[in-house]
Amino acid sequence: MNLHKYPKRGYVSSPTPIEKLSRLTKALEDNIEIYVKRDDLLPGTLGGNKTRKLDYSLAKALSQGADAVVTSGAVQSNHCRLTLAWAIREGLECHLVLEERVPDSYLPHGSGNNFIFNLLGAHGLKVIAGTSNVEAEIEKTAEGLRLKGRKPFIIPGGAADPIGALGYVSCAQEIASQMTSTGLDFDYVVCASGSGGTQSGLLAGFKATNTPLQVVGINVRRAKKEDQENIIHSLTDRTLELLGINSGIEEDKVICFENFLGPGYSIPDQGTLEAIRLLAKNEAILVDPVYTGKALAGLVGLARSGYFSKGSKVLFLHTGGFPALFSYLSYFPEVAGSEGA
Ligand SMILES: *Cc1c(COP(=O)(O)O)cnc(C)c1O
Repeated sequence: MNLHKYPKRGYVSSPTPIEKLSRLTKALEDNIEIYVKRDDLLPGTLGGNKTRKLDYSLAKALSQGADAVVTSGAVQSNHCRLTLAWAIREGLECHLVLEERVPDSYLPHGSGNNFIFNLLGAHGLKVIAGTSNVEAEIEKTAEGLRLKGRKPFIIPGGAADPIGALGYVSCAQEIASQMTSTGLDFDYVVCASGSGGTQSGLLAGFKATNTPLQVVGINVRRAKKEDQENIIHSLTDRTLELLGINSGIEEDKVICFENFLGPGYSIPDQGTLEAIRLLAKNEAILVDPVYTGKALAGLVGLARSGYFSKGSKVLFLHTGGFPALFSYLSYFPEVAGSEGA
């Protein structure tokens, strides 16, 4: 595969750990073994999966002589936090377009990632309604910068294009080599499936390295399994093309589950909250109400329903996101007051 021909900035200085979750495994009383891949510990302000993608996206921006980046995300976007963080480290201006996917969810002095946008200091911050045409809004911001003589580079929301997905091709290679060095033969990887670059990059990377691992995506944004699977299929095929593989991904490899989304994007349900508490109390690891809490609820729900074959090893990809947890304190009345929410 041609991964080496795409420049990256080297943000991922060493492989992230894979840890056994013995206490969670025991708590579920199921005949599987659960492990976690700690991409929440990636470098970049408070870590998370977007660091792997931005490693490639920002290398492309810099190779084109950009002096500013424009991107978008939800009001508590981890992607916006990490784009801003790495842009600062690269000396680039960063302009964010924040979508209110839930009406009135933007709080100018909000907690979590929102606080970090303000503390780090985004150069531009525009809040738009969730129903707006986000690409058009990004382009408007970029055009405004061009008129001022700047050279903006547009990164799509979630860095969900084939270049960004290369970050997870690289992660798939990393997992494959960790499997070889530890002798652990994982059967499944479970991850959150949002803008899709993570799942697509993994699928492309496992195909390219002939690693027979089943990737299970848990919908965290779209309500329909088929809609998400179509997005993943197309992005995986376009990523494989970058790698010089034109045969495409097999239909049966693209697997998404819609039944752990709860009421909708960024709104946790009881299953999400149970998963957050379960991992905190058993393993002292934090997952978030928007992405990883739902992905873990998916893993737990699938385990309880007997989806994973007996004795199999399941790797939970922890994609980060815990900074958003601090803007959801009111969902945890048993341990938090309402003042931080
Ligand atoms: C963006 C994000 C995801 C989803 O990844 P996609 O590549 O957009 O599907 C999962 N977890 C966290 C914490 C994220 O910020």
